[in-house]
Amino acid sequence: MTLPQVFRVNAYLSGKKVQDTYRHKGMRRRLVESLRRKGIQDQAVLQAMESLPRHFFLDKAFEEHAYEDKPFPIGNDQTISQPYTVAFQTQLLQVHKRSKVLEVGTGSGYQAAVLAIMGARVYTVERYEALYLKAKFTLDALGLKNVRCFFRDGSKGLPEYAPFDRIIVTAGAEQVPEVLKQQLAIGGILVIPVGREVQAMLRITRASESTYLTVKEGDFRFVPFLEGTEPE
Ligand code: SAH
Repeated sequence: MTLPQVFRVNAYLSGKKVQDTYRHKGMRRRLVESLRRKGIQDQAVLQAMESLPRHFFLDKAFEEHAYEDKPFPIGNDQTISQPYTVAFQTQLLQVHKRSKVLEVGTGSGYQAAVLAIMGARVYTVERYEALYLKAKFTLDALGLKNVRCFFRDGSKGLPEYAPFDRIIVTAGAEQVPEVLKQQLAIGGILVIPVGREVQAMLRITRASESTYLTVKEGDFRFVPFLEGTEPE
């Protein structure tokens, strides 16, 4: 899916006069080129990230920095993940068109939008109400109809919509929540960073009802995966 509705976004977010200009597109192309040099090869991931204006998901104050390969604050002490991390996790997830994907940790909504542009059916869960509301607004404004946002504690997954073909966790967990493994379809893939100070990126495939194969894919640093929800 492409983003034909970008002009509508310019109108919707015009309180802040957010536009996707040729300059933004140029910076985005250079960012994607740098991700390629850092080892990201999945063409669908790179294309989605090239088409999606990351600055729409950030406060105006960070607009000039939106295409640096860095995380930035999004409020409530949380961050939008570094583009390399988004690309790396998305590549590991191997989504297909119509894959049913659960994301735990909506944050800004950027990762959810990347998955939606790739054609996945995305269910994304956030524990801060303020972030949930803001991300939902941005995703609606982008016209991405294949994303559904939930204000929930993602440590419980989303039982009424399980099983999922793919599950991605974008906060650092101390261990793999058993519930999330249970909500994977057979053959499904869970990508989750696990650890205290530094997190190992785990790619867990559900091979059968009771068998899971785990592969460790490098170290990252995430904001913590926490239980419960926080009102605005
Ligand atoms: N994917 C996001 C990254 C946000 S950072 C993006 O693209 O911007 C991780 C987010 O996970 C934070 O917003 C944090 O509040 C959220 N989070 C942490 N633990 C959670 C839980 N148990 N359930 C839902 N969200 C959680």
